[in-house]
Amino acid sequence: MLVNAKEMLEKARAGHYAVGQFNINNLEWTKAILATAEELKSPVILGVSAGAGKYMCGFNTVVAMVNAMMETMKITVPVALHLDHGTYEQCYSCIEAGFSSVMFDGSHYPIEENVAKTTELVQVCAQKGLSLEAEVGAIGGEEDGVVGNGECADPAECKMIADLGVTMLAAGIGNIHGKYPENWKGLSFETLEAVNEQVGEMPLVLHGGTGIPADMIRRAIELGVAKINVNTECQLAFAAATRAYVEAGKDLEGKGFDPRKLLLPGTEAIKATVKEKMELFGSVGKA
Ligand SMILES: [Zn+2]
Repeated sequence: MLVNAKEMLEKARAGHYAVGQFNINNLEWTKAILATAEELKSPVILGVSAGAGKYMCGFNTVVAMVNAMMETMKITVPVALHLDHGTYEQCYSCIEAGFSSVMFDGSHYPIEENVAKTTELVQVCAQKGLSLEAEVGAIGGEEDGVVGNGECADPAECKMIADLGVTMLAAGIGNIHGKYPENWKGLSFETLEAVNEQVGEMPLVLHGGTGIPADMIRRAIELGVAKINVNTECQLAFAAATRAYVEAGKDLEGKGFDPRKLLLPGTEAIKATVKEKMELFGSVGKA
């Protein structure tokens, strides 16, 4: 059964490790992440972006698939199903569909409107038993067309949003979605420390986990990060393994064209990436 992310993140924050959020795109992705979490006895968060939800035939399909897979695979570790970067409307769609956690990304609104909408969602999520992630200070990315550093959140604004009663808070600390550019300046630990001081025991979320050096990840965890989002890294691993299979001509040998064979190296590559991240984040054996 799906659980919300509150307990697993509070334990992680207190125990100085982080729980990985791994975004899913299809059945193979979900199976690979669930199997690895179970094998390593690690709590896990399955992230679903609105685009991926649409690709998988809607949020209802995602909930039905994940619930059925957890039952068939006899998953015993805590699993949260979480909307990634949701709009106000998408949060409601996912609450309705049976997600156990949502992120309301109000970072592009003026702070007053972010506060008003977050306040409302805090109440709805509390009523329905979901965990809620809020964001302050937009997280940069390739899609913004800007190369360089991600935005840094204002610690006072972080406190304002944290005090509303959200479960976890994503604060921009120079992190970026997708691949990091060569001239990236690194995470702003100055910002993270200031945010951490303002928000008390609130579990912090680090987006754009792909390509952040291991020592920066460890330091971020020491400074209160309890959830780290990984998306692009699984995509790159899947694509590279699939490319290698095809380039080796394996799809042309025997029944190598069978999708169950064709997609297997990519699926195994996702498992290896998830394992590596869970080991780095320290969540192995914490379920
Ligand atoms: Zn993100």
